[in-house]
Amino acid sequence: MEVAAPGLHHLTAVTADPRANVQFYTRVLGLRLVKRTVNFDDPSAYHLYYGDTAGTPGTLLTFFHWPGAARGRVGTGQVAGIQLSTAGGSLDFWADRLRAVGCPVETGQRFGEPLVRTADPDGIAVEILACREDPRPGWSGADIPAPHQLRGMAGAELRVRDPGRTLRVLRELLGWREERVEAGRRRLVAGPGQPGHWLDLVGDEAAEPGRPGTGTVHHLALRSADAGVSERLRARLLASGDAPSALIDRTYFRSVYFREPGGILLEIATDGPGFLVDETPETLGAGLMLPPAFEPARAAIVAALPPLAP
Ligand code: ZN
Repeated sequence: MEVAAPGLHHLTAVTADPRANVQFYTRVLGLRLVKRTVNFDDPSAYHLYYGDTAGTPGTLLTFFHWPGAARGRVGTGQVAGIQLSTAGGSLDFWADRLRAVGCPVETGQRFGEPLVRTADPDGIAVEILACREDPRPGWSGADIPAPHQLRGMAGAELRVRDPGRTLRVLRELLGWREERVEAGRRRLVAGPGQPGHWLDLVGDEAAEPGRPGTGTVHHLALRSADAGVSERLRARLLASGDAPSALIDRTYFRSVYFREPGGILLEIATDGPGFLVDETPETLGAGLMLPPAFEPARAAIVAALPPLAP
């Protein structure tokens, strides 16, 4: 297939407490805060981006701050949580590090590979998977020894009541291919099939539908090479009866949104222009970046945001 969305771009979740969020993702997990900005629809709330050194697609976790919002419920029609990749042999390091700061730790296995499961301050499930083949470097600016650094998203778990129609969209419209099945879990891969190019589709007819709110994943973005590919994928979705948005300028990428048949909000995001459009590699994430329309109100916006420093 010549036009496809061959990998994960970012995952966006919802936090009630941006300060605890920054502490956990930068100080505990050792990711780089690559952009601090505000919700473009509501500048009284943060939008925070974490990733590797440059904020490479596939390493990005982003969080909407919804002040005062109710806690959501994880269920069908949602992405279940966050999956991050580390090297084989690093799980003991992560289990010890998480326990040392009071985070819950469980161990498990998936498709024969071990994992450690914890929860972030909002209760979002965070899994660290020992991945054999992941050439991506981590971010070396935190206190994580190089062999143990987190290298980006491993995959994402899509939970739906009826996986059949979701599977059709992923395979026929977006170019993913089914690779393995284990205990009701289908692993789809795209592109090179390495970590950052996995989706696990889990069907559960009996499960409750998810409810949006803090502590849940809001949407998952898949990669597109450029705006031309996004437009062609959009046309394909339209032709098959889906209802994608227009191509929207998100400053750091261009996005098309649509709700797949299982109810999950998906995005197709371009690899470029990336996070260096308004900051240098050295200062990435250091300042509050505002869209031009909000700049005249910067002082008032900053004064209303909760401080992120400890
Ligand atoms: Zn997004």
